[in-house]
Amino acid sequence: MDIVQELLDAGFGRVIVLDAAECGVTEAESLLLALWPYQAEREVSAGEAWIHPYYFASQAAYRAADAIAQRHAADGVLWREDIRLKPIFARLPGFSQGRNTLSCVPEYGSRFHVQMLTLAHGLPATHHLEEVPHALRCGDCHRCEAACPTGALEGGVFHRERCLRNWQVSGQAYPEEVRKRMGVRLIGCDECQRCCPHNPPPAGEEAPLPVSLEEILRTPKAAAVTLRDHIGATITMHNRLLGGACIVAGCTQRRDLIPHLWRHAASPSAAVAEHARWALVQMEVTFLPPTEDSHV
Ligand code: SF4
Ligand code: SF4
Repeated sequence: MDIVQELLDAGFGRVIVLDAAECGVTEAESLLLALWPYQAEREVSAGEAWIHPYYFASQAAYRAADAIAQRHAADGVLWREDIRLKPIFARLPGFSQGRNTLSCVPEYGSRFHVQMLTLAHGLPATHHLEEVPHALRCGDCHRCEAACPTGALEGGVFHRERCLRNWQVSGQAYPEEVRKRMGVRLIGCDECQRCCPHNPPPAGEEAPLPVSLEEILRTPKAAAVTLRDHIGATITMHNRLLGGACIVAGCTQRRDLIPHLWRHAASPSAAVAEHARWALVQMEVTFLPPTEDSHV
């Protein structure tokens, strides 16, 4: 069994083998970090809802790693999601962290996703953790602070409660200041990576999958099922998706979507109803349905 080669053949760009005990993992001998790189689009699509390419990469990487772990389960290979990566990256040679909170490697910048596997029977380590965590890679650069649409990196500190990505996975009603800054970003946000000088220039031509805002608002459950195959289940819970789509509709002033928004303004989901009502108000629709009616 050459597990490293299998990971590379499955599409991972690089596999790092670590001594598991050195990383604080006591029930296995090796920890494998498998990096799946992705490209950013040259131009972020406008007009319809946009999903960051990271989510397509992470789903593809998860599927590949899970399949390999299942194939080799009897040999002590285990897919892991319970190991904290940030403290490992902080001491891993070649890795660094930026003010945008993202880890970075020379060949991919911060545009990669990591899957973790542990092996009961160890492989020789390719790297050893350094004694002391690395300093930030940023020097005098503050570009991401300026580029963030919501001020989530203001003062060089990460303000989670302002970050678009934080709200997109929350399932809660977004603060109004955050809603106004969503634009077409249905899932994910690229601004603090796009501006970073440690990232290769965006090279992808178009979004991995065109997403129809009308389809999500018309048939949210079916749209969530379709997207789930491409970007996973957690981020596509249908009310999360629908709540985000209502905000994008409001930001893009899509008046053709008003009938759908009017229907969702009476959703039993408080977050969906609030976002739909907000979107209608952005389009100066002032007559809104009572919230207790349910048509979803
Ligand atoms: S992901 Fe977007 S909102 Fe969040 S910190 Fe980066 S630029 Fe700001
Ligand atoms: S944009 Fe500048 S400040 Fe932000 S993470 Fe990159 S190097 Fe650091």
